[in-house]
Formats: sequence, C-alpha cells, structure tokens
Amino acid sequence: MYARVPTINPLFITIFSFEIEGAGVSPVSALEQLYKEVILPRLCAACGACVGNCPYLVKYKGRTVKLDSCSRADGRCYAYCPGANFDPESISQAIFSQPYDTSGLGSFTEVRASRSTSNEILSMAQGGGTVTSLMSMALETGILDAAIVTSAKGSEGFPCGVIATTARAVQESAGSKFVGAHTLDALNLAIERGFTRIGIVGLPCQIRSLRKMQVYDIKDQHLKERVRLVVGLFCNWSFSADEFQSFISKKVGDKKIRKYDVPPPPSNKLIVETDDGAESIALEELKPLIQGACRECSDMTSEFADISVGMYEGRPGWNTLMIRSKTGLDLIETATHVGVIETEQFPEENLNHLRQASLNKKERVSLTKIETGSSQACHD
Ligand SMILES: Cc1cc2nc3c(=O)[nH]c(=O)nc-3n(C[C@H](O)[C@H](O)[C@H](O)COP(=O)(O)OP(=O)(O)OC[C@H]3O[C@@H](n4cnc5c(N)ncnc54)[C@H](O)[C@@H]3O)c2cc1C
Ligand code: SF4
Ligand code: SF4
Repeated sequence: MYARVPTINPLFITIFSFEIEGAGVSPVSALEQLYKEVILPRLCAACGACVGNCPYLVKYKGRTVKLDSCSRADGRCYAYCPGANFDPESISQAIFSQPYDTSGLGSFTEVRASRSTSNEILSMAQGGGTVTSLMSMALETGILDAAIVTSAKGSEGFPCGVIATTARAVQESAGSKFVGAHTLDALNLAIERGFTRIGIVGLPCQIRSLRKMQVYDIKDQHLKERVRLVVGLFCNWSFSADEFQSFISKKVGDKKIRKYDVPPPPSNKLIVETDDGAESIALEELKPLIQGACRECSDMTSEFADISVGMYEGRPGWNTLMIRSKTGLDLIETATHVGVIETEQFPEENLNHLRQASLNKKERVSLTKIETGSSQACHD
C-alpha cells in the first residue's frame, strides 16, 4: 500500500497525488513518469535539475539520458522537472507571497535599463554585462560563496554549468550559449559540496526548476535559505546542444568561435563570430534544431527570478533589467551604490513592447498545445 509521509510539504503532496495508479494503491515510478512525459516526447529542456540527483539520469553529449529503471514514487527527478506540473500560482505564493501575475511579465516592481561600468566586462559580455557584473560583485562582497553560471566548454565539449567562486571564474563564463546546458547539474553539486550562499544565473525553465526545488525541498536541504540569489535571463528558444554543435561544426569547421549573437528582429539571423570573421546563418535554417521543450514553454522573462535580465532592443550595449523581489532590489541598490552597474529609466513604450512579446510567446504555446492536444508542461 502506498502511504504518504505526513511530514511532507503540502505542495509536494499535490505533485504526487496523481501518481497513484487505479484505485490509488500502486505507486508510479517518478523516473518512469519523467521518461514517459518529458524525456521520450523530447520535451526535456536540458535544465539539469534531475542530473546529479539520481544515479540513473545522466547528461550525455548534451542530452538527458535514462540509464536504468527505478521504482521510487517520490523521486526528485519528476518533482523538480520544469516540464512536469509547474503550478505558477503556488510557486508565486511560496516565493513572492502574492498571487501569480497573469498580465504577461509576471510580478515585478520596477524595470530599468542597465549596463556594467567595467569596459573589460562589457567587452566579454553578451549585452550590457549586467549579469556578469552583478554575480562578480556578489562573490567579491561575500553576498554569495558560489555562483552557478554556464561555461562554453564542459568536459564533453558542450556548454555546462560550473560553480564559480571568484569574479574571474564568473567572467570566464560571460556570454550567451544558445543551447540547453544542464546548468542545474552544477547547482546540485554545489549543494552537495556544502555551499550555503549560492547564486544562480539561468534560463526561465531553469529558474522554474530551481523554484520547485526550493519550494518542495524533498530532502530538506534548506534550499530556500541556501540559494540566495536567482538571476533569470530572457529566453524565446534554445537549440538542442548536440544537433547545434554538429550543425555549427559543418558551417565553420575548426575556426575558433568567439561569440554567438542574435540581433533583434527583423534580422532573423544568428551571427557566429570566429577568429576568421563573422558568419551569418538564417534562423529559419536553424529552426529544426530548437529544443522540443521550447514549443511548450510560456515563460519569456524568467518570471520567478529575483531579477530578470535581457537585451535592450534598439540600444546595443545595454540590458533590460526587471526587479521582482526584495532580494533583487537590495542587490541592485548595492550594485549601483558601489558603482559596478549604472541604470536608467526604461521607457514605457519599450515596456509595452516587452509585455506584448511575452504575451505572444504565451499565445504561441497555447496554440501549439491545442494543435498537438498536449496538456503537459507549463500550465500558465
Ligand atoms: C538560450 C538563450 C536565449 C536567450 N534569448 C533571449 C531573448 O529572446 N531576448 C533577450 O532579450 N535576451 C535573451 N537572452 C539573454 C541574453 O542573451 C543575455 O544573456 C542577457 O541579456 C544578459 O546579458 P548580459 O550582457 O548581462 O550577459 P553576460 O554578462 O554576458 O552574462 C550572461 C550569463 O548568462 C549565462 N548563460 C549563458 N548561456 C547560458 C545558458 N545556455 N543557460 C544558462 N545560463 C547561460 C552565463 O553563465 C552568464 O552568467 C537569451 C540567452 C540565452 C542563453
Ligand atoms: S527538463 Fe530538466 S529535470 Fe526535466 S528531464 Fe530535462 S534535465 Fe531533467
Ligand atoms: S524557451 Fe523555455 S524551455 Fe526553451 S530554453 Fe528557453 S526557457 Fe528553456
């Protein structure tokens, strides 16, 4: 007989209540559920949350692979996956103590234009270097003892999450890698290694997973207290790492890649900056390489982060910065006070444009779900 553990968080009970088969007596394996609902239909966003929490799930050449079976019904793999039963309402209540804001951009208190004041960081960053400056400062001032960022080259040659403990290490990971990189794998490692003031930079799917980890905290690892800073990026899509890698190596051969860039519409191009000049690839050509998960992902602005950072359309070298929580506000006040970033007003017209872009993503997802008859993944 399947018995629920009485000490478990009520949100956790909500997750697993539907896992009881038939008359509610036989538990369903969390891993099998994850495999059936997320991995097999290629809805895995390669966030990395399940990797490192389970011996049977590993990353292999940019993909999440199931090595064996497991009968646990209460596995963290399914509970923390952003593609399985994400409930924006309960997460918003648990993190922001307020209902989920459905007006398009999630809850926020302020939007600013921002950029780094360091020319060195500006030269290595994707946009205005806001993220790299903030994470560097947070480590240097002791706000954090570890920052989880995403490096271009992991041991398998694919982008991956790393634990940075110095500003230099954060800076080595500056710039966008337009693939799912299993970043939360490094968070799991940082938790295991005992870091207590952890910050993370992640895509919206990764931030959703991280918030599930904090709210459900199945192994009672004090994740709400230990993960102190959550910096989300804007995101509309990312490529499947292995498919992108083989596509790009055919295009640019063994030229060293310095940076990828996606200029704002209407360019519709990916620019690959190499040692030998820049290559331009039509996004249309790259469309088949977009991860399946992105078709079902309705979060463009990392709605559950403390701060969210994206490009500033029409103003190169600057970022759009959304402040969502008291933690986020404190960080930005400190950063502007010590002068590592500068901020300016964000025009109302740009905010309206941002909201519309986010609503467009939500609408695209709703249409996809109607077309495919899917009821999984994000429900907002
Ligand atoms: C896949 C992807 C899609 C994006 N789509 C959009 C978009 O549609 N619109 C928009 O405005 N902005 C988008 N961004 C965000 C944008 O590219 C910049 O990351 C953001 O504006 C911050 O700029 P910055 O100069 O402060 O970044 P930097 O200071 O260069 O810092 C970038 C940070 O992002 C982290 N990072 C890089 N790649 C990844 C990854 N794959 N997964 C997790 N973390 C990563 C790095 O570790 C680094 O800490 C996207 C980013 C990614 C990775
Ligand atoms: S989305 Fe994340 S948690 Fe879900 S299967 Fe993929 S790597 Fe695992
Ligand atoms: S579109 Fe969504 S699922 Fe895809 S990489 Fe971006 S945040 Fe993750």
